[in-house]
Amino acid sequence: MTADATAVPEADWGRAVALVRAADTVALACHVTPDGDALGSMLGFGLALRAAGKHVVASFGDRGFTVPRLLRFLPGQDLLVEPAAYPAEPSLMMTFDASTMDRLGLLAPNAGKAAELVVVDHHVSNTRFGSLHLVDPGAASTTMLVERLAGRLGLTVDRDVATCLYAGLVTDTGSFRYSATTPAAHAMAGRLIAAGLDPDAIARELWDRSPFAYLRVLGAALDRVTLEPEGAGGRGLVWTYLTRVDRARHGLPYDEVEGVIDVIRRVDEAEVAVVLKEDDEGGWNVSTRSKGAVDVARACTALGGGGHPCAAGFSSTLSPEETMASLRPLLTPDAA
Ligand code: 5GP
Ligand code: MN
Repeated sequence: MTADATAVPEADWGRAVALVRAADTVALACHVTPDGDALGSMLGFGLALRAAGKHVVASFGDRGFTVPRLLRFLPGQDLLVEPAAYPAEPSLMMTFDASTMDRLGLLAPNAGKAAELVVVDHHVSNTRFGSLHLVDPGAASTTMLVERLAGRLGLTVDRDVATCLYAGLVTDTGSFRYSATTPAAHAMAGRLIAAGLDPDAIARELWDRSPFAYLRVLGAALDRVTLEPEGAGGRGLVWTYLTRVDRARHGLPYDEVEGVIDVIRRVDEAEVAVVLKEDDEGGWNVSTRSKGAVDVARACTALGGGGHPCAAGFSSTLSPEETMASLRPLLTPDAA
């Protein structure tokens, strides 16, 4: 999909600008178990707003609220409050990178009571659950919409804001490798780097470091990886899973296993890759990736999740085998 400057009507940008200008306090939220785009878009916008004199609170609705280790380097962590301390009925609330109300987790009731709810997102599956929508499925990342809004508000994108926005951009383009890598994505990266951020330090934080225990747990995942050549409509399915016991054995927290899917999805013999990850409470988060012929967002949405055509997910309380049994028939190639 290409970036479409008209995806958001001009009048909606104008309304968003007016709402933010009129507000003293702005309550920001991103999706649960935030990734670089969710947290980066929220904190980047929050820092820019605070520098302009607004009172800002930011959060995400996870039980056992913690910022994933990978994202603790992002500036603006002091904007964060636990869900319990979040305004119950915000006058202006803005959500980032959340495609549905459900993705706000514990903060969904707050969003339901907000006088104005501005939804900033780039998922094609966005359900438009707010009172105003800055949603562009052609944008490579939600941080791209934040940059546009900040520009319209005349906010300053300093080094810290740029670091947050760049983290979202490189996360969702896979470091400019995925199909979301448009001229607009590179142009935005150029503007952000010009603001003084440090691309190599950000890349190292996001992808190029792990505790040693990660290698042991990755080993366990690789030990039980399965290739099903007939899977995904004959195009090949590769999958594996990681239990909380695997992680406990080596002392590895849940938030360290996000990168396993990037190893699994590389195999030539499979169109679709799946990694099932058990959290500390015994629930399972399922990551799916496609190379383009199978719409994994459609499959995951059917199972209560969502995402993008080539990267999507859902949660499950069933065993890995049972979850795969419900997922397998949904992994069919689009009609050519
Ligand atoms: P990941 O596998 O990296 O956790 O997620 C890949 C993509 O799928 C992300 O863009 C995220 O938006 C989406 N996603 C993952 N899990 C869920 C889920 O449980 N519900 C929804 N709606 N989207 C999800
Ligand atoms: Mn995103």
